[in-house]
Amino acid sequence: MMIELRQLTKHFQTANGTIKAVDDINLTIEKGQIYGIIGYSGAGKSTLIRLLNQLETPTSGEVVIDGKVINQLGKQDLREARQEMGMIFQHFNILWSRTVADNIAFPLEINGTPKEEQSRRVKELVELVGLSGREDAYPSQLSGGQKQRVGIARSLANNPKVLLCDEATSALDPKTTDSILDLLVDINQKLGLTIVLITHEMHVIRKICHRVAVMEEGRFVEEGPVLDVFRRP
Ligand code: ADP
Ligand code: ADP
Repeated sequence: MMIELRQLTKHFQTANGTIKAVDDINLTIEKGQIYGIIGYSGAGKSTLIRLLNQLETPTSGEVVIDGKVINQLGKQDLREARQEMGMIFQHFNILWSRTVADNIAFPLEINGTPKEEQSRRVKELVELVGLSGREDAYPSQLSGGQKQRVGIARSLANNPKVLLCDEATSALDPKTTDSILDLLVDINQKLGLTIVLITHEMHVIRKICHRVAVMEEGRFVEEGPVLDVFRRP
């Protein structure tokens, strides 16, 4: 399997006591799956997805990605493990002073990929996400959907095995949301990429996810194939 969470727990200490943001979660996600985690605000979804790439370290438990317990890796190994994971965000996290092409090349620049290889890769990615012809545009000249396409292309620059999506369509209108979801399915099928997404929108889960977990107060209250979990009574 691609991802395994074992008794994963994250507590935050606050003035008002301990918050169990993620509370003893066990989960297996197979390679190539599109896995959705849905829940209301405060359920623990962001904390959970941040634990997957170690933006948060767990209070206890293990995060296993592609056979590696990533919360026990040293700095260098963690950096390598992180390159296998791309992430996209609600507000795109793009660099406003850089063109589309330079945004997409950014992760490649950072890890010292040769210029020629960068250009080749950017060309591929621009085509993959449907932004051909917009390479020299700045983010302020793009629609919300196009900005997210830039975010997606950049997240794929290092050929990750897993794509983490943090409310990736929540800032977009319904039609644009559908076009971005279609793109995620396309990427899932073409690249065999495993996708984990968090959302508060049922529609997103129904449209593209294979399996879903429903999260409340740090725990999964339901988990299974989307058609079973959301079967109409
Ligand atoms: P969701 O993404 O589902 O809205 P979060 O993971 O953001 O949920 O939050 C889960 C719970 O953990 C909430 O009660 C939130 O206030 C709390 N929380 C999240 N991050 C922190 C933090 N850094 N410090 C203290 N409490 C936090
Ligand atoms: P959209 O309208 O497509 O949802 P936004 O314009 O709201 O995207 O951008 C999302 C985030 O980026 C917001 O936090 C916003 O303040 C910030 N932002 C938008 N445009 C710029 C800009 N030109 N320079 C810096 N930050 C920006």
